Amino acid sequence: MDDTPIFKCWVCHEVIANPTWDLSRNVQKFGTDIWEGKARETINTLLSQQMFVYDSQECWHLHEPAVASELKLKTTYPPSSPFTPCCRCGTAVDRSLPHVSYAITAMNLQEAPDGWLGEVIDSKEFAVLCRDCEEPDEPAAEAVAEYENQTERTSA
Ligand SMILES: [Zn+2]
Ligand SMILES: [Zn+2]
Repeated sequence: MDDTPIFKCWVCHEVIANPTWDLSRNVQKFGTDIWEGKARETINTLLSQQMFVYDSQECWHLHEPAVASELKLKTTYPPSSPFTPCCRCGTAVDRSLPHVSYAITAMNLQEAPDGWLGEVIDSKEFAVLCRDCEEPDEPAAEAVAEYENQTERTSA
């Protein structure tokens, strides 16, 4: 069985070559650990779910307004401070607790002996949502359904 993944751009339907641009929904929390004697901030990703993939930043930018309206975002690209206003309702999100974050990441995928290796070359947080807007462990039902449809189409 050939299990080489073939990704097609959500927007232009081209087969994607490196780098891949991917929009993921993550459940994450900020923490600190000690590294070389100093406290540093860490981001702990508890769950990550890929929603859409693109072959270029241009295609992501074309799709971006639709994603923002689907997620009912008032603001995008939040600051990565310990308290961040929810991009939908403006409530402060305490980043030390699990919260939902959408991020766009550019990655070079490489075949490795035990699977696929992704080297992140660019990553930006697109939106942060408070617990009232999106529960940290429930998937965003509509968006995931759309993504599943697309997976079926591209693997056919
Ligand atoms: Zn494209
Ligand atoms: Zn909110």
